[in-house]
Amino acid sequence: MTLDGKAALVTGGSRGIGTAVALRLAQDGADVALTYHSQAERAADVVDQIKALGRRAWAVQADSADAQAVRDAVTGAAAEFGRLDILVNNAGAGALGPVGELSLEDVDRVLAINVRAPFLMTQAALERLSDGGRIINIGSCMAERAAFPGGSLYATSKTALTGLTKALARELGTRGITVNLVHPGPIDTDMNPADGESAPMQSGLTALGRYGQPSEIAATVAHLAGDDGRYITGASIAVDGGFAA
Ligand code: NDP
Repeated sequence: MTLDGKAALVTGGSRGIGTAVALRLAQDGADVALTYHSQAERAADVVDQIKALGRRAWAVQADSADAQAVRDAVTGAAAEFGRLDILVNNAGAGALGPVGELSLEDVDRVLAINVRAPFLMTQAALERLSDGGRIINIGSCMAERAAFPGGSLYATSKTALTGLTKALARELGTRGITVNLVHPGPIDTDMNPADGESAPMQSGLTALGRYGQPSEIAATVAHLAGDDGRYITGASIAVDGGFAA
């Protein structure tokens, strides 16, 4: 299998896109560590599913807004598996609303989780990440197209990942480490359920006229993580059903 012998860390692996990514990487052969915030039982369930695939798995509670917890998650994962090859910065927070109604706490929380945490994760992972490793950030189609009002904070946070991704690709390329950004469109998860109030509007903004499934994001992450993705770096890849088209 393509990821045999590799070790991955997926943030926010207890639900949604993160769970799909964790399971897909495990199916492809990787041992997988995941972080979660509040859903310990769901994280434990994902760990069991990974182990059932014959891989090693490890979960740790780590609030992405807590700098030390973020760093400890990286060192813990690397210690657990004795190596680290793939980092997927997936955990994210949404805060939609008119710009005038967003509080300072909203701004600080969303930037801490969506921007500062991937930055700190990467810093902590750097010396542990194997040459030829992978960093895959999860952005949003809202970074490419702010198609409806209310996305100022969320789009700001996700757009920041473009700069991080490109600059890191330049910094780590000599080690064969690739850094990429995947922009999901509307994906059916707890954060954005396909039967939610705004779902018809969001589906209508895609070219395909439907929500995506978490596994459709995981498939692209797996390609980037695998050997076939080795010449892709610094890229922003839309997996959004044509939301940004
Ligand atoms: P979910 O709400 O379904 O899952 C979020 C995951 O992130 C959970 O595992 C959750 O842990 C974890 N998480 C949330 N807050 C924190 C935190 N403070 N610290 C650590 N972990 C945290 O979200 P999605 O799967 O939909 O989203 C995953 C990523 O994809 C996010 O970055 C999101 O912005 C992005 N995205 C999603 C889209 C969508 O339509 N769904 C569209 C575009 C981008 P726990 O279970 O413990 O709460």
